[in-house]
Amino acid sequence: MKHILGALCLILYFQLNSQSVPVPDVQNGRASITVIPDSSLVRGEVEYLIDNAAQTDSFYIDARNMTIKKVLVDNKVVPFIYDSLRISVPVEKTQKETKVSVWYETQPEKAMYFINWKDDKHQAVFDYPPVRGGAQVWTQGQGKYSSHWIPSFDNMSEKLIFDLSVMFPADYTVVANGTLKKVQKEGGQRAWHYDMDLPMSSYLLAIAAGKYRKSETRSDSGIPLMNYYYPEDSLRVEPTYRYTKTIFNFLEKEIGVPFPWQNYKQVPVKDFLYAGMENTSLTIFSDMYVTDSVAFNDQNYINVNAHEMAHQWFGNLVTETDAAQHWLHEGFATYYAWLAERRIFGEDHYYWKLLEATGRLQRLSDQGEGESLTDPKASSLTFYEKGAIALHMLRERLGDDAFKAAVRSFLNKFSYRNATVDDFLRIAEGTSGARLQDFQQRWLTDSVFPVEEVMTSLIANDFVKAYKQVQQEAESVRKGSAPEQTARIAASWKTKLRDDSLYHPVKQLIVSSAGILPQVQQKDLLETALKGGLYTRQAIALSLNEVPQDLRKPFESLLTDASYLTIEQALLKLWISFPEFRETYLEQTAGVFGFNSANIRTLWLALSLVTEGVGEKEKEKRYADLVHYTDDRYHFMIRQNAYGYLKELSAFDKSSVRSLIRATRHPVWQFSRFSRDMLRDLMEQDEFRFFLQQFRDELSTDELQALNEVLNKDSQ
Ligand SMILES: [Zn+2]
Repeated sequence: MKHILGALCLILYFQLNSQSVPVPDVQNGRASITVIPDSSLVRGEVEYLIDNAAQTDSFYIDARNMTIKKVLVDNKVVPFIYDSLRISVPVEKTQKETKVSVWYETQPEKAMYFINWKDDKHQAVFDYPPVRGGAQVWTQGQGKYSSHWIPSFDNMSEKLIFDLSVMFPADYTVVANGTLKKVQKEGGQRAWHYDMDLPMSSYLLAIAAGKYRKSETRSDSGIPLMNYYYPEDSLRVEPTYRYTKTIFNFLEKEIGVPFPWQNYKQVPVKDFLYAGMENTSLTIFSDMYVTDSVAFNDQNYINVNAHEMAHQWFGNLVTETDAAQHWLHEGFATYYAWLAERRIFGEDHYYWKLLEATGRLQRLSDQGEGESLTDPKASSLTFYEKGAIALHMLRERLGDDAFKAAVRSFLNKFSYRNATVDDFLRIAEGTSGARLQDFQQRWLTDSVFPVEEVMTSLIANDFVKAYKQVQQEAESVRKGSAPEQTARIAASWKTKLRDDSLYHPVKQLIVSSAGILPQVQQKDLLETALKGGLYTRQAIALSLNEVPQDLRKPFESLLTDASYLTIEQALLKLWISFPEFRETYLEQTAGVFGFNSANIRTLWLALSLVTEGVGEKEKEKRYADLVHYTDDRYHFMIRQNAYGYLKELSAFDKSSVRSLIRATRHPVWQFSRFSRDMLRDLMEQDEFRFFLQQFRDELSTDELQALNEVLNKDSQ
C-alpha cells in the first residue's frame, strides 16, 4: 500500500428525515460567522429564506449542541423549541416567503477542526525539524454533519444557495464555497464574503483557513482553477498540482456537461480525516499529498485530485437520495478518476488499476464477504472499486456513445437535485435501447463479484495478458517445474525485464517472484532488473530482505534513486546486510527527509542510535530529534513513524509518552487507534509501567483522563 489513507473520501450513513409530510422549501441561506480559533469557538447569524407553499406551521433547522441565542421570523423575535439536535421554529401557514434567522454560538465537537492553535499559533518553537502548515481551521461536513458548526440541514435532499461570510484573524486566508466577493478589514480581523449562485446540500459547506498562497490558472472553458499552498511549499506547487488543468479539461469533455460551479479551489490541510473531500467548488485534501518531485513518483495527488473533481458532478451537482444510492457518488468518481489517469499515464495503467481492484474484490468475494453495491453499509472497496468496474462493464456493453449519452442526460435531468440508481439505469436504457435488468441484478444487487466477466474484458489488453502469464509461470515453478521449463521461464522473464515498452507492474511481479528460481537464474534476473527503470529497481529494494554480497555494489546505487520508498528500503536492507558499512550508508543518506511522513529521516535517526561508531554526543542529539517528531504539531504520520521506532528501541521518554497519551484522542481515527493500541502494548511491559508511574502526577487532567480511558477499555 502506498499510504494508509485507504478510503478516498468517506461513506456517509445518511439517515433520511422521517418526515413524510411536506416541508417548507429552503431557497437560500446567508451566514455571517466569526471564528475565534484561540477558543475553538464559532458564533454568528444564519438566515434562511423559505418558501412555505407546503403551508406547514413549523420549520426545522438542524443544529447540534449549540447555544441558540435567538430566533427571528421576518425580523421579529419568536419563541422556539430546541432539543440540542434541531430547532423548531413556528411559521405562518399562509405565508409564502419567510425569512428565518438564527443567532448562535458553539464550540464544535466535530465537523470543524482547530489545528495547532493551542501551544503556538504562529511559528514552531524549534526550526529544525520543520513543522509545516502552521495553525489552521478546516471543516468536514460529510459523515460529521455541518450542523455542528452552522445551523443547517442534515437531509441531503434539502438543496439551497449558500452565501458564507467568515470573520477570522486578519493574518490568515479564508477559503469557502463559491466566489470571493470582497474582504473587509475590521480591527485585527478580516471578513471574507463568499457568494454562491446555485444550490447544494449542507454537507458540502466548507471553510479552510490558514497561512496560504494560491496559484491560479483557468480551464479551457474559462473556469478559474485556484491551487492553494503553504508559503513554505512554493517549490512543491508544480509537482503537487501537476496535471490539474489536464484533468479538469479532460473531465469536462469526457462527461460532456460543463463544470457546474463558479470556480474550483483546492486546499491542503493538516491532519485531514480522509484523503480528500469534494465540498462544492472547494476540495479540501490531506497535505500528505503535497509532494516534491521525488515523492511524486510514489505518492502523488493525481488520483485524489481527479476523484474529488469528478464528485463536483457526481455527488455535488446530482446528489444521492440516500446511502443505498452511494454508487452514484463513489463508483462514478472512482471511474472518472481512472479515466483521467488513463489520459495521463496511458491504457496499460488504466488496466492495471482495474486488475488490482479485481484482485481485491475477488478475494473479498471468495471469502464469502462480497457486498451488494446497493447495500447502504457496503465497504469503500465495494462502493469505490466495484462501483467503478461496474461502470467499465456497463460502458463496454452499451458502447461509448450510448454510455456517454446516458451520463449526460442523467446529469442534465437531475442537475441541482437528487437521484437514485434506478433513475440512472432507466435513462441508460432509454439512450441505448438495451434492457439492463440483468446488469442491475449482477452488478448492483448481487453480492458475489462476477470475476470471470471482468477478466474476459481485461484479458483483451496485452499488458494484462503478460501479467497473467507471469503469474501462471510463477505458479508452475512453485509447483516444481522441470529444469528445462524453469530455464525457459527465466529466459522469458529476462526478456521481459529488458523490454522498455512493457508496463512496470509485470517487471515488479517478476522481481518479487525471482526468489523461487534457482540461485544462478535468480542472480541473473536481479542483475538485469537493477539495470531497469525506477519501479523495477524499487521492487528489488522491497523484495530482498538480505542483500547478497555480490549484489552489494549495484544495490548501493539504489540509495540515490528518485524514490523515497526505494531509498528507505535500500538503507534498511544495506544496514542490516553489511554492518561494516553502516556508517557510510548513514553518511550517504544524512539529511534526506523522505515523504511527508519523514520515513527516511526517522529510520535514519533510529538506525544511528544503534550504529557502532556514532559518538555518544551525536547519539544524544539524534535521539532528541527523534523525540521531537512525536510533538503534537507534527503530522500524525511523522509521529506514527517516530513512535514506532521509539517502541522498537524501548526509548520512550517523558515527553513522548505524554504526547502518545494525547494522541489517543486525535481526530484521525487511524492514528488514535494506532496510539491506543501502542499504549496498551507498552503497558504490558513492567518497565514501561514503572517508568510511567514515576511521573504520573505530572500528567494534565486531560492526559490522565485519556490514559484511564485506554486502560479501562483494556480491562473490560
Ligand atoms: Zn469520493
